[in-house]
Amino acid sequence: MRNTQDTQSIFELSKPGRRAARLPECDVPECSLRELLPAKMVADAPPALPELSEPAIVRHFVNLSTLNMSVDTHFYPLGSCTMKYNPKRNERAAAMPGFADLHPYQPEDTLQGMLQMLYEMQETLQEISGLDACSLQPAAGAHGELTALLVAAAYFRDIGEVRTKVLVPDNAHGTNPASAAMAGFESVTVKTTVDGFVDLSDLAAKLDDQVAVFMITNPSTLGLFEPNMRTVADEVHAHGGLIYLDGANMNAILGITRPGDWSPGKGGADMQHYNPHKTFSGPHGGGGPGAGPICVTKKLAPYLPVPVVVREARVARREALENDVKDNNSRPAPHDSQLFRYSLDFDQPKTIGRVRAFFGNVGVLLRAYAYIRTHGPDGLRRVSENAVLNANYLLSRVAHFLPVPQGRRCMHEFVASASQLKRDKNIAAMDIAKRLLDYGYHAPTVYFPLTVPEAMMIEPTESESKETLDAFTEVLFRITEEDADLLHDAPHTTAVSRPDEVRAARQPVLTYSAE
Ligand SMILES: *Cc1c(COP(=O)(O)O)cnc(C)c1O
Repeated sequence: MRNTQDTQSIFELSKPGRRAARLPECDVPECSLRELLPAKMVADAPPALPELSEPAIVRHFVNLSTLNMSVDTHFYPLGSCTMKYNPKRNERAAAMPGFADLHPYQPEDTLQGMLQMLYEMQETLQEISGLDACSLQPAAGAHGELTALLVAAAYFRDIGEVRTKVLVPDNAHGTNPASAAMAGFESVTVKTTVDGFVDLSDLAAKLDDQVAVFMITNPSTLGLFEPNMRTVADEVHAHGGLIYLDGANMNAILGITRPGDWSPGKGGADMQHYNPHKTFSGPHGGGGPGAGPICVTKKLAPYLPVPVVVREARVARREALENDVKDNNSRPAPHDSQLFRYSLDFDQPKTIGRVRAFFGNVGVLLRAYAYIRTHGPDGLRRVSENAVLNANYLLSRVAHFLPVPQGRRCMHEFVASASQLKRDKNIAAMDIAKRLLDYGYHAPTVYFPLTVPEAMMIEPTESESKETLDAFTEVLFRITEEDADLLHDAPHTTAVSRPDEVRAARQPVLTYSAE
């Protein structure tokens, strides 16, 4: 049973005069702000902040936090979002005072550890993607898409080619066409086949010398690896276009295949973004901070945002140190900071400029760095192998009662369809998603991709056990057997049942009313 305090806004809980902290009597003469500051900087009235005691504030926010679902509290198979467990050691690493207490305006010599981390992150992401250069600045996957398309635009401008179109398959994430439009391109849809792959004849029909970029998600949002990837890349390149990989699904292929290698000898992806908050276990959801680093080929590197982190060898010192070590075997090998100096390079005449303040969302990048270094190359490969194994296990069980139109096998996720159930019993994907909340499971992604009717996109990730997958399957099956009327008003156990989702997002009402 919840009490109403849980659903009252903090403003409704406010009582004039309540305080979380009280200051001691003032022992210096008081003077008004107006005497200290120019009049235009002083507000007419204090801000209307809620007034509460400290325990009331803590209870309010802790209770609110329990109304939500999270990876730490529930299974969260939200397809495309890779809601894997967020290891707590990453949090500890990112919170170390040597990182957390830095200020980006400090002199570079006092930021060497942070810059080394960022430099190694650039190198690591390049290695994983098989590409040559990296920018850590973009603040989210979608921002990475936009940045890479601006880089592509700058490249074509520079080589004197006018290209106005970006091709996007019909099952792409909505951010792809949106990024294309924001970067000033016309977004042109390319069809996919009934099997969920790029329709090569539609691609051929739309590919011309006006096409700047083909944006592809591979594995796709259906959890399928594009079998014609090499042909697609070669065709686009033959027309002078670039391949952009939407890297949101990198969790399926880490250490197994590299986008830059997809057409050996001819080049695969020319650019890609990562979602460290998905693939590399950064916490996300609720609009929290993410990051969207991008990697590109050598010819696109000059256009990347500035600054990039560069490393120079402290050559003279290095030789001296190495000789020292040779002469005296008991000496420890020279420390990285003795060998190299890291700095920020702003001197890139062809850069598109900055896309984000300072160096990007380094807190998120730090967590991702800790995750990558914890696993190492073999560990990252195992992450993907287990993610694919878990998804295929779940697929093989779920497909018995919720058809999976595209494929008996998948990569890290699959898309089931409730359309049969909708026809037979009037149970829609949305009803199942809502009812899952009553059973303590976060819903899968529903109604995406748009190419599958009543789509339910399920991504278990590698961090779930077989017991969890079995229990989830059983609940999912039970729901498909339930009475449609019960499902139409689900969820029954949450503080709010079915808000008007569009209006809730566009015109949020942040106060509670008892009706
Ligand atoms: C999540 C996602 C994006 C956008 O990434 P954000 O970090 O949310 O901006 C783009 N494409 C696909 C396929 C995604 O799943």
